[in-house]
Amino acid sequence: MSLLVVGSVAFDAVKTPYGKRDKILGGAATYFALAASFFTDVRVVAVVGDDFTAQEEQVLGDRGVDTTGIVREKGKSFFWSGEYGDNVNDAKTLDTQLGVFAHFNPRIPEKFKDTSFVFLANIDPVLQLNVRQQMNGAKFVAGDTMNYWINGSRPQLGEMMKNIHALLINDTEAKMLAEDPSLARAAQKILKMGPQALVIKHGEYGSTVFFEAGAFGIGRHPFRAPTLPLEVVTDPTGAGDSFAGGFMGYIASQGELTRDTFKRAMFYGGVMGSFTVEAFGTERLQKLTRAEIEERYKVFRELTHIE
Ligand code: AMP
Repeated sequence: MSLLVVGSVAFDAVKTPYGKRDKILGGAATYFALAASFFTDVRVVAVVGDDFTAQEEQVLGDRGVDTTGIVREKGKSFFWSGEYGDNVNDAKTLDTQLGVFAHFNPRIPEKFKDTSFVFLANIDPVLQLNVRQQMNGAKFVAGDTMNYWINGSRPQLGEMMKNIHALLINDTEAKMLAEDPSLARAAQKILKMGPQALVIKHGEYGSTVFFEAGAFGIGRHPFRAPTLPLEVVTDPTGAGDSFAGGFMGYIASQGELTRDTFKRAMFYGGVMGSFTVEAFGTERLQKLTRAEIEERYKVFRELTHIE
C-alpha cells in the first residue's frame, strides 16, 4: 500500500570526523522517502526553492518516488548545517535557514488523498495537524517532532499527538516531552498524551516500541530492536528519518498491523538507519539494493536471536 510523507526536502552542509560536504541533498522527507521506497510506493509533499534542480529531484525519481507533491517556490530551499564530534548521537546545529520552508502550508494533492499510510516528518505541529485533517481516511498515521516544538509549541504538539497512531522520537526528546528522566516512565506518560504506539530511537543502540494497553489488539509489552555496531559512522545525518522510512515502508508493504509486523518494522528501521550513516548524505541510500537490505536484516536477527 502507498505511503505519504510530508516534511523537509533540503540542502545540508555537514562536518563529521570523517570529512565534510558543503551542499548536499538532505531533508527529513528526502531520507524518509528514499528509505521507504525499498518497501512500497512513496509520495512526497514538500516545498523547495528555485535552487532545487531537476537533478536533485531525480534522486527521488530514480527510486520511483512520486515527487509531484513537491512545490517549487521563488526563493531558497530549506538549509541545515550541522557538525558531529565523536558522539554520533549528538548533532550540533550550526545554522538553519528556513527559506521557502518558512511559509510551507502543505496542500495534499487530490490524487494523494487515498493514501492509507502517512508520516508527518518533523515540521510545525500545527501543519502536521492540518495534514492529518486533510488525510482523515488514513489507516495509520505516524509523526516525528523535535526539541524546538516540544519547548515552544507544547499545546499544538499535544493536539497533534491526540490525532496520530504512533510517535517516533529519540530518548532525549521523550524525556523532555514527558518531563521525566526515566525513559520507561516517560514512555507511559507520552502514551497517555494520545498515540497508541511510541517508538523511541536510541541512536546507535537501537530502538524500543511501547504500546498503549490493547493498542491495535496486540498487547502492551514493549519490544526492543538492535542496530548494528558499526566501526565507522561516516555521517549520522538522516539516520532517524531513514529509520522512520524503513519502519513505515515495511508496515505499509504489509498493510496489516500485527505485533510481528511492528517487530519486523523496527528491525527494518534499524537496517535502513545503519546504511544511511555509512556515507555522507543520501549517497549510500542511492546505491543500496533490496538484496543488501535482506542480507543485513539477517545480521540483525543473528545479533539478537537465541535458540
Ligand atoms: P535526522 O538526522 O534524521 O534527525 O534528520 C536530519 C535531516 O533533518 C537533515 O537532512 C535536515 O535537513 C533536516 N532538518 C534539520 N532541522 C530541521 C527542522 N527544523 N525542520 C525540518 N527538517 C530539519
